[in-house]
Amino acid sequence: MLLEPGTGNTAVISASQIAENLRNIRERIAETARRSGRAPDSVQLLAVSKRQPLESIRAAYAAGQRAFGENYAQELVARSEQLSDLPELEWHMIGHIQTNKARHVVRSARWIHTLDSVKLVREVGKRARALEAPQVQRFALVEVNVAQEPQKSGCSPSELWEILEAIEQEPSLRLSGLMTVPPRSDNPEASQHFFEELVHLQQQHGGRSRLPELSMGMSSDFEVAIAAGATIVRIGSAVFGPRPS
Ligand SMILES: *Cc1c(COP(=O)(O)O)cnc(C)c1O
Repeated sequence: MLLEPGTGNTAVISASQIAENLRNIRERIAETARRSGRAPDSVQLLAVSKRQPLESIRAAYAAGQRAFGENYAQELVARSEQLSDLPELEWHMIGHIQTNKARHVVRSARWIHTLDSVKLVREVGKRARALEAPQVQRFALVEVNVAQEPQKSGCSPSELWEILEAIEQEPSLRLSGLMTVPPRSDNPEASQHFFEELVHLQQQHGGRSRLPELSMGMSSDFEVAIAAGATIVRIGSAVFGPRPS
């Protein structure tokens, strides 16, 4: 595969390689869903484009990808402006949100996966209400720190109840589901327990009718996540190659 010049000093993988990666991942997603007795289209692929060059995002879009995830508010806002010529592109915020960035996040992202406190929900809700088109609700997911790892974002399972209620009180937000990032591990099977915990929390808090989406699984463990019940898998390096540092 030829390397193309990237933005700045990065080298990006070719557009055809990105298209091939996407085909391959979509096939693996569909196959895993089928094996788990689920409809192949019950799992959405979210392409995580953080720190990847813009032309890689354009290449994925040209290959039919529409949902993209970013971790940093500033990068999200910059990219949503730089790529505003791609009409169907839909941004998902999947990184920790500082309250003072909520305004920027709601402007750019239709989906927010990382609400993790009542305070943040209120701020995001308020900022979304102030947008030009406040009738367009933001899809709101709550990030749960299932393993209760110390310095990790996400609420603890015991806080979930009040955060879900707070989202339902915000007319600008549509409560859509739960999200988690399991502890780092070299073994994809190690994530299984944490994915199942998220499913358990979904069941405890109203089930699929209240929380239809489960955002879980990344490049290394998305098949385990789908088998456990993921409806959105967040995949970066397996689509775009290693992230430029
Ligand atoms: C970076 C990131 C991903 C994608 O990670 P890959 O291992 O590159 O697939 C998914 N979810 C979150 C929250 C991330 O920060």
